[in-house]
Amino acid sequence: MKQLLFGLTLAAITASAAAQDRVFALAPAGEVDSSLLARVQAYLEENSTVAVRLAPAVPSEPGQNLEQIGRIAAMSMESNDHGIIVLARSTLDQPQGVCLPDDRFGVLNLARLEVGADAARIERRAGQEGLRVMSMLLGMAPCPFPLCVLVGYDQLEDLDEMSGNFCPPCLDRFERVARKAGLRIMEPPRPDSNEAAVAEELPAGEPATPDVPAAQEPEAPAQTPDAAAPVAADPAPPAE
Ligand SMILES: [Zn+2]
Repeated sequence: MKQLLFGLTLAAITASAAAQDRVFALAPAGEVDSSLLARVQAYLEENSTVAVRLAPAVPSEPGQNLEQIGRIAAMSMESNDHGIIVLARSTLDQPQGVCLPDDRFGVLNLARLEVGADAARIERRAGQEGLRVMSMLLGMAPCPFPLCVLVGYDQLEDLDEMSGNFCPPCLDRFERVARKAGLRIMEPPRPDSNEAAVAEELPAGEPATPDVPAAQEPEAPAQTPDAAAPVAADPAPPAE
C-alpha cells in the first residue's frame, strides 16, 4: 500500500515536471540580423507568455521556397521543441509566410515583412506573424475581434494598424492550450506594456469552451499563398 502511494506520487511529480519543459524554437535562415532575431524572441515571449529558445541557423540554400526551408528546420528540432518558427531571408516572389501545423513549423519571409518598414516596424511585424504562427501551431482558430493579432487581414500594411498581441480571451486560451501542450510558461506572465494589461480583469476568457481540442489538431494545414497572413477571414466565435 505504501509502496503504491509512493509510486503514484513519484509518477505525478515526474509528469508535472515533464509537462512544463517544452518550448517554441526560433531560428534564422539566410542573412538575418542577430539583434533582430533576439528582439523578436523577446517580443514573442513577452506577448505569448511561453518560452521561445533561439535555435541555430537553418542550413538553407538560395532558391529554396519557404516550405522547403521549413521542412529542413523541422528536422533540426530538439525533443522538447513544440514547433519551430523560422525567420527567413527569402525573396519577394515567395509568400509572406507559410505555416504547416501538422509538420510543426512556420516560416516568415523577411524580404516581404521589411517592405516599407524601419527596424522597429519590421520587428513588430515579425513579432505579430510569429504570434500568429505560434497560435496555429497550438491549433487555435482565427479571432473575429478587431483588437487582436489573430484577426484576418489582407495587406501587409494592415499589420501595422492591427493589435500587436492577443485579445484577452485569446491570451487566456493560448495560455490554456500552451499548458496542455506542456509548454513552459514565462514568469512573470504578463508585462503591463500594452493592451494585454487589461486581460486580467475581463471575465470573457473563462472556461466556457469545454475542452479545447488537443494541441496538434488544427482544422487544416494553413498556408499563406500570398501577402495574406496564415489566417482566413472566416469569422470564428471568440474564445468565450
Ligand atoms: Zn483574439
